[in-house]
Amino acid sequence: MPGISADTGPQIPEPQPTTDNTQTTLPANAFQEVIDKIRILCMTLGVWLNLHVGISRENSGIFLKAIQVIIAINVNLIFRILRRAGLDIVPPTIDVPTDIRTAYKKTGVEPEIIRIPCCPTCFKPYSLETLPDVCDWKKSPRSWPCGTALKKQVFIQNRKTKKKKSKMVPKCIYATQSFESWLQFFLSRQQIEEHLEKSFQQEQTRRNSPQPNIMCDVQDSPAWRGLGNYLWTRYHLVFAFYIDWFNPFTNKIAGQVASCGAIVMYCLNLPIEVRFLLENIFIVGIIPGAPDVWTITHILIARAIKFRT
Ligand SMILES: [Zn+2]
Repeated sequence: MPGISADTGPQIPEPQPTTDNTQTTLPANAFQEVIDKIRILCMTLGVWLNLHVGISRENSGIFLKAIQVIIAINVNLIFRILRRAGLDIVPPTIDVPTDIRTAYKKTGVEPEIIRIPCCPTCFKPYSLETLPDVCDWKKSPRSWPCGTALKKQVFIQNRKTKKKKSKMVPKCIYATQSFESWLQFFLSRQQIEEHLEKSFQQEQTRRNSPQPNIMCDVQDSPAWRGLGNYLWTRYHLVFAFYIDWFNPFTNKIAGQVASCGAIVMYCLNLPIEVRFLLENIFIVGIIPGAPDVWTITHILIARAIKFRT
């Protein structure tokens, strides 16, 4: 009875090393493109761990370094086998950043932040080039100026010489996100395109139908209808401002009493069920404390200046 033994079984031929490059039909950068995609995935995972899971910046760097080592070992092994099989291809470079801040920039997660020097008391915006020593804002032409100091002295140590050098910097900075970069992120999402198209079609139907008895959204109101048709195309976007104050330490009765003001913009083109989702709103800024009407005006002026430019 015939049997299968190690001697009679099918033998896999050992690949012989060769220098004949004509066997290779893959483009030279095929592996590099694949590795670049894997690199983006690794960086996104590192960013997610830092942002969502809450691991520290240092540990995120260790994770990225470990991932780089694992990929490098695997690629090295694969290319050794490929070389033995006669494919003499240049191995791709694996460049996973070990600093999570670099990963933020390369994955496009890092928002573009605009920083404007402002008065710590009245929040009047200034430019860095023409920042005076004290705030010159007046409530009225005959009232006293605000007079709050706008600069402070800081000491910076040189890493090499360890010598300290003093420098005057703005005392207060108003930070806000670039609306243009946020809009780019907003419109790049497939769901937003679909929502804008749906809203556009709904608005056209609404224009040709009588006033509804029940108003479900601001667009159903007679006042809004009186404004005329603003949706000439689906990309004519209309935004509304929303300002409210909240306790950042949550509403504890015996807890710390604090107040922060959030200025938010939301897109009226979106259907109401997705209009106020966190990913669909634009945070104009956070105001510390309980500001009066002047401070809000100054902050909105700073934002309006950026909208114009
Ligand atoms: Zn001031």
